[in-house]
Amino acid sequence: MVTEETNITENLDATRAAIAAAAKAAGRDPDGVTLVCVSKTHPAERIRTVIEAGERQFGENKVQEAEAKWPALKQQFPHVRLHLIGPLQSNKVKHAVALFDVIETVDRPKLARALAGEMEKTGRRPECYIQVNTGEEDQKAGVLPLDADAFISLCRDELGLPVVGLMCIPPVDEEPALHFTLLKQIATRNGLGLLSMGMSGDFETAVRCGATAVRVGSKIFGARE
Ligand SMILES: *Cc1c(COP(=O)(O)O)cnc(C)c1O
Repeated sequence: MVTEETNITENLDATRAAIAAAAKAAGRDPDGVTLVCVSKTHPAERIRTVIEAGERQFGENKVQEAEAKWPALKQQFPHVRLHLIGPLQSNKVKHAVALFDVIETVDRPKLARALAGEMEKTGRRPECYIQVNTGEEDQKAGVLPLDADAFISLCRDELGLPVVGLMCIPPVDEEPALHFTLLKQIATRNGLGLLSMGMSGDFETAVRCGATAVRVGSKIFGARE
């Protein structure tokens, strides 16, 4: 529908402007912040609108849903890069390595070993982020902050995964800046340059705290069902 597409395009423009403004206010180059458009639950036609508006990085949180939508889109738009931003089970590693260009949720040794094995086997090497459970929440995925250094070393040095950075999802009821700052500290002391942090509600704070990628869904695509 025409009105819907207009909204998505307007939402996208507003998001880009807000990222640029937050970067400038923090004395950062806006080009240093990548917008990852989170398209989970949204159909291919809406995603196509965003691709045609110039975006090329997208995030999905479920392997199966992504497999249903993305092979056709990737064929039509080969330059698009797809990020896995949801939990990955070891038995879906084969599918994830085949489809995704970036895997942001590496968080436990069993998964890391499975990824290393699959990359070895196929020669396909999606970039990896380590997810850190900065809020130490029981229900949330991610390595605990205290275990992060050892886990990063296992992934990068022992298993040879292409680890580029860290990712976090702060607890909903806490000041996100504290979590973003902690994530940056862990990245810095481990020599990792990229930080995937910030969603629709807190991406400006994340940019202020040093995010190099923000994952924005509802602000672009509208509310999810
Ligand atoms: C859904 C999701 C997002 C986007 O959330 P919005 O609030 O809609 O911007 C970002 N990151 C992860 C890991 C998600 O699951």
